Amino acid sequence: MFLQIAILSPVFGLFDYLPPKDGLSADVLPIGLRVLVPFGQKSTATTGVIIQIKDSSDCPLNKLKQITAILDTDPVLPSTLFHLSQWVCRYYHCPPGEAWNLFLPKRLRSGKTNAWPLRAGKKKHKDHSSTTVPTVSEAIQLNEYQVSAIDRIRDSLGKFNTFLLEGITGSGKTEVYLQAIESVIKQGKQALILVPEIALTPQTLSRFEQRFSCTLAVLHSGVSEATRFYHWKMATEGLAPIVIGTRSAAFVPLKHPGLFVVDEEHDLSFKQQTGVRYHARDVLLMRASLEGCPIVLGSATPSLETLHNVKQGKYTPVTLPNRAGNATASRVTLINPRNEKTVSGISETLRHKISEHLANHRQVLLFLNRRGYAALLYCESCGFKARCKRCDASLVYHHKKNCLKCHHCLSTTTPPTACPKCQATPLKPVGIGTEKIEKTVSEWFPEYAIVRIDRDVIQHPEALQSALSTIHTGVPLIILGTQMISKGHHFKNLTLVGILDIDAAFYSADFRSQERLGQLIMQVGGRAGREKHQGEIVLQTHFPEHPLLTTLLTSGYKAFAEALLAERMAMELPPYTHQILWQAESKHATRANELLTWIKNKSLSLMRQPEFNTRHVHIMGPVPALMEKKIGYYRAQLVVQASDRKDLHYWIDRLLAELQASPIRTSARWVINTDPQEVL
Ligand code: ADP
Ligand code: ZN
Repeated sequence: MFLQIAILSPVFGLFDYLPPKDGLSADVLPIGLRVLVPFGQKSTATTGVIIQIKDSSDCPLNKLKQITAILDTDPVLPSTLFHLSQWVCRYYHCPPGEAWNLFLPKRLRSGKTNAWPLRAGKKKHKDHSSTTVPTVSEAIQLNEYQVSAIDRIRDSLGKFNTFLLEGITGSGKTEVYLQAIESVIKQGKQALILVPEIALTPQTLSRFEQRFSCTLAVLHSGVSEATRFYHWKMATEGLAPIVIGTRSAAFVPLKHPGLFVVDEEHDLSFKQQTGVRYHARDVLLMRASLEGCPIVLGSATPSLETLHNVKQGKYTPVTLPNRAGNATASRVTLINPRNEKTVSGISETLRHKISEHLANHRQVLLFLNRRGYAALLYCESCGFKARCKRCDASLVYHHKKNCLKCHHCLSTTTPPTACPKCQATPLKPVGIGTEKIEKTVSEWFPEYAIVRIDRDVIQHPEALQSALSTIHTGVPLIILGTQMISKGHHFKNLTLVGILDIDAAFYSADFRSQERLGQLIMQVGGRAGREKHQGEIVLQTHFPEHPLLTTLLTSGYKAFAEALLAERMAMELPPYTHQILWQAESKHATRANELLTWIKNKSLSLMRQPEFNTRHVHIMGPVPALMEKKIGYYRAQLVVQASDRKDLHYWIDRLLAELQASPIRTSARWVINTDPQEVL
């Protein structure tokens, strides 16, 4: 008997081992158990998982090693998730052990016991069905759309179905999740909810806590490893009826899966940007089909991928067309800064509106997606710009700390007193960041508080909590924020939102940039006027007549998305085609490019073989990354595109096998990125 093992480290392939010395007990099916095995040159044993039992091995018997120990008596994952891990491995083309690592908490990856942690042992655990006191629904009179949405989800419980719950911010989507979840819990099952960022939106979590009296397992990176494991156990053993977390929670086993929810399904944070490049929404969709569970994707601004799936009849659309309660839609004003005097990027009109709203005792939000004081320091006589030595990027000037920061590698330096190149003049700050706006508006409106929310001032959850509680007092003030403020918040007294400088999206080389811009405008704009007072949005752009912007503002996000989809179709871009990026990087200036050129040439020679004739892929590149040098690495990529996913995966598998067999594979770091979300 031979056992095929996935080693829990980044190595491709599975490895054959012999059973341990004292054998395997006959009544245990060992698939899915963790083991310790000798691996490579390491003196200590490595953790692995048994994937398959075989009666022969390609490896000669004298080369085979014995399993050191079997760690579990039961499989660490239910069989559905065992299959999901295999899907992750095939779909994202990652080493099998890396896929397994996504499912297992650190403790289990490192070979420790799967028993309850000590501190939990002290608490008494009752079975979930008995702990779940029926939940207390607030006295909310649901509107007809909410009622119908909840009914349709309830009707699907117990079988796989994908819903797109579409509705503007404040239309009552969360209320729909809450009531659907209530039904799930009453059936003795569990609900798993993915949210973009828990630390940034404590409100979402507290709404769940307030509504349900049962145990919530909360999984995100902000908690300690021990707490994480405890919550993971609660979910796995079925003791937590509600499991809520960020993208990594998509992999948490549930004993009684009943319903999956992905809130803000369009959000980029669901895509992992290091290690296995998985998309949590897509993983959860596959999981829902394996576990036979309905899944609800919620968004005010669904991704084009999701809308495309709705058009193809794969997802069921459910719409909440109005704002819940009394709130009405916001009024939008477009301002071209070219036609007006601006100070720190704020036009006269916007300045007037700010003072009006403040005088009416309302709150104002100014959004700018750039931290710091000035985008760069520049020499007016010779044109010198302060740039990062390790990245292809300008250094951002931070006034208060008087430093130059690279926002990519996070290195910091002191600004030079004179131009380092021509020694002529002091360098001049150009471009605007949140720090500069803060200075300007505090001079304009000294009697009002300014709450700035960006990564420079908010470095831990307590700082955010304190900033948010200031806003929640409702006193008139100015909120100033980056991306950090765009999601999930509900500020009752906020009536004016100013969005500054969105124009980069119109120049960007990333074909997704306009989709993201539309989502951002709707999301940030959606913060205004969420209660009884009407909201107002001021959008500053040099392209006020841009057709896409006009469509977005006059006909709404859906029409905007339709226009973008038509463009994507014409240009044969996703979601009408599928892409995989092969990304490489090296400290050596040419190696990434050389490695990818090797892959490209391999694929050209494969194309001459008859079996490839029917499998059409299009290979573009290699090209340097948009920011070629980052943190000291030179980066390049190859885009592999096909209209049929099967062809695409077939190709990547073949190329991967070729690369694995060649010593060139170690000449640069590389990774395969299935369904890339950003051009890097
Ligand atoms: P979304 O998740 O779409 O942003 P929420 O579910 O958070 O919307 O609802 C926005 C606000 O309206 C919340 O304060 C919520 O309690 C309230 N709300 C939701 N549904 C109703 C309703 N039918 N009647 C009155 N208020 C509602
Ligand atoms: Zn840098």
